[in-house]
Amino acid sequence: MTAGDAVAEADCDVLIAGGGMVGASLAVALAGLPVRVTLVEAVPAGSPGQPSFDARTTALSRSSQHILATLGIWPAVRSEAAPIQRIHVSERGRFGTTVIDGDEEGGEPLGYVLENRLLGAALWRAMSDSPNITLRSPATVAGVAGADDALAVTVEERGTSTVLRTRLLVVADGARSPLRASLGIAARVRPYDQVAIVGNVAVHGGGHDDRGPMAYERFTPDGPLALLPAGPGRYVFVLTRKAAVAEAVLRLPDAGFLQLLQQEFGYRLGRFERVGGRGSYPLELVEADAVTAPRVAVVGNAAHGLHPVAGQGYNLGLRDAAALAELIAGTAVADPGRPELLADYAAWRRPDQRRVVTFTDGLIRLFDRTRLGPLRSLGLLLFDIAPGAKPFLARETMGLGGRQTRLVRGLPL
Ligand SMILES: Cc1cc2nc3c(=O)[nH]c(=O)nc-3n(C[C@H](O)[C@H](O)[C@H](O)COP(=O)(O)OP(=O)(O)OC[C@H]3O[C@@H](n4cnc5c(N)ncnc54)[C@H](O)[C@@H]3O)c2cc1C
Repeated sequence: MTAGDAVAEADCDVLIAGGGMVGASLAVALAGLPVRVTLVEAVPAGSPGQPSFDARTTALSRSSQHILATLGIWPAVRSEAAPIQRIHVSERGRFGTTVIDGDEEGGEPLGYVLENRLLGAALWRAMSDSPNITLRSPATVAGVAGADDALAVTVEERGTSTVLRTRLLVVADGARSPLRASLGIAARVRPYDQVAIVGNVAVHGGGHDDRGPMAYERFTPDGPLALLPAGPGRYVFVLTRKAAVAEAVLRLPDAGFLQLLQQEFGYRLGRFERVGGRGSYPLELVEADAVTAPRVAVVGNAAHGLHPVAGQGYNLGLRDAAALAELIAGTAVADPGRPELLADYAAWRRPDQRRVVTFTDGLIRLFDRTRLGPLRSLGLLLFDIAPGAKPFLARETMGLGGRQTRLVRGLPL
């Protein structure tokens, strides 16, 4: 058999192209439903070079934690997840600050910080244990041909091509999504000319606060800096720099890098004393013009690739997955690729996606150094005292704005 031969025809109800954070979460949400799911992933979780479940950590919103709990994933990762009780927002060199407090929101943490590779391991274990999910990895989706009753998807696996017929194709292959483009779905792509530099930093004395673990979002003239609590005395940082200087910052010796972090963040937590390995991610905004096509649904970064400033990308994508799974569960005996279901998916998800894209992109524009600084500080102060403003932001940050899915409410599908 030579590469490129079509060797077999097989059928499934839902074929998920991409088993990263969102594609794998969707598959787990479909586990146990009367649908045959095939997930095709280029790089299995746990392999070197896996782009989604890499050394990064993710700030999970409260709604994501609820969804993962309903899916049965949470018990496997709970002991490794660090809670966020409060979020402190400030701007370097200006007077306005604001604090979003979990206690004002019912005492439950606002969210959690979890290593991507741990989430990946738990999701992949759950998929492997599920009799209605077929995992094809390492394998790639190489092409799609249309038909009224099913799509013919070409899957390349170990030098062999297989054509799988599916009633619904879910595009979950990430922000650059060649598949989305091949299906004729255009996307707005706007580079931010910024790079996120991520890693871990230890704080002398532990940076302890009696009111519970705090996450920090600090806007600096050169880009935002986030510090997320990752355990006693340890924080994850996401430092954004202009692309032109990012490489030099990345290569700074540890002492120079610690000095830069300290200068940008100040001494609110004490002295930064050790920094781990650093990774970098070029940043851009990607927004698909549509999240459906005939027999196709687009989820996660393939639908919306965001700046990580507010830690919303996976949280938003997980809500896409939860909504799509709920619609499929409601129609399992019927056709999961039927136009009415896809129209419901788009109508449900578009408002949330638009809101989060606008909010995230707006933050980057608002704190752009070329814009009016004093008004921003006033904005943060007013935000602190304006009735309703903080609860609104808190609900959005926790992913609890808009129509909620069954999974977020703790109801299995
Ligand atoms: C620095 C940084 C920090 C972040 N922090 C947060 C945070 O704190 N909170 C948060 O919610 N989000 C955060 N995000 C965003 C989050 O990482 C993404 O939103 C999330 O990874 C999107 O998952 P996805 O599955 O849609 O896409 P991806 O993670 O891009 O996964 C796509 C998958 O598809 C596979 N693939 C690609 N092409 C094919 C093909 N042809 N066939 C088969 N498989 C294919 C890839 O191998 C990959 O596994 C952050 C992002 C960055 C860059």
